[in-house]
Amino acid sequence: MEIALVGIGKIAIDQHVPAIKDSPDWDLSATVSRHGSVEGVPAYDDFAQMLAERSDIRVVSLCLPPVPRFTYAEAAIRTGRHVMLEKPPGATLSECHALEAMARAHRVSLYATWHSRQADKVPAAKSWLAGKTLRRLTVSWRENVRQWHPGQDWIFEAGGLGVFDPGINALSILTEILPDPIHLTGAELSFPENRDTPIAAECRFHHPAGAEVSMALDFLEPGEPTWTIRAETDQGVMVLENGGGKLTIDGRADDSVPGLSGEYPRLYAQMARLVAKGGIDMDLAPMRHVADAFTLGHRVTVAPFDW
Ligand code: NAP
Repeated sequence: MEIALVGIGKIAIDQHVPAIKDSPDWDLSATVSRHGSVEGVPAYDDFAQMLAERSDIRVVSLCLPPVPRFTYAEAAIRTGRHVMLEKPPGATLSECHALEAMARAHRVSLYATWHSRQADKVPAAKSWLAGKTLRRLTVSWRENVRQWHPGQDWIFEAGGLGVFDPGINALSILTEILPDPIHLTGAELSFPENRDTPIAAECRFHHPAGAEVSMALDFLEPGEPTWTIRAETDQGVMVLENGGGKLTIDGRADDSVPGLSGEYPRLYAQMARLVAKGGIDMDLAPMRHVADAFTLGHRVTVAPFDW
């Protein structure tokens, strides 16, 4: 299938372009970006023009930051294109509900991707936790924003989510692997005095069986990143590290080998399946927890942030 990639920046170049090029399902037939392009691929800087001129392209993958994404998604769906959304699927929950309703009305596929859910060990973590009694779970998601998002001012502008941009990856895994639903009960959000989004956060959650569930996010981790979920249960301790890439049960590493390798190849394989059967995959649970943190969170002002 012919696909157009929109918003040629860091994640498009790092992950989407190689995943599409290596996939048997997709041909990268156009890019749309104000500055970026991909060698050998027809490049547009006007989305409406691409949609009008390229009726052969039935699928559009949007890799823009969340705030500008809705307008693009709306235009694509209204012209009958199937749409794949980078995470988070929009700037607000209402936008995402609107897109889903629009996709149903236009009978096109819509996929809210959560790349971390496709990490190698997420399925094994999910099946290990099934049927066990959770006692305590801690998420520790710490990285250096200067290393992982250099110069990306949008992340500190309203709608950019700040430290919840990586934090939502943890929540996408958590909402996939936990057998029971949780909900946020409190949060402390640290906002740099010159920015609109938090640079650190501490969150607490209600668990139906009374387990202690908490999450610590930090964007100023100086060294190697920590992307870890640790779960204590009645039958042992599970540690999921490296953003879902490494799983240890009671100190023993899980060495199961998943089939297709790589988060983004799995996302594009899933999009191909959705388009083939006309499906919609729009799970908003990770985003709901982030919205709850912004609703309930106690705000603390901290030192200004500059790159
Ligand atoms: P980015 O490089 O800052 O932005 C991607 C591209 O979007 C930019 O190069 C720009 O291309 C276009 N763009 C930016 N602002 C725009 C606007 N207001 N209107 C239209 N186009 C605009 O960001 P990114 O790191 O690729 O992240 C994009 C999305 O992917 C985010 O939702 C992020 O959470 C997600 N993501 C990022 C990573 C990562 O490691 N960076 C990992 C996984 C997921 P032009 O200037 O050429 O138009």
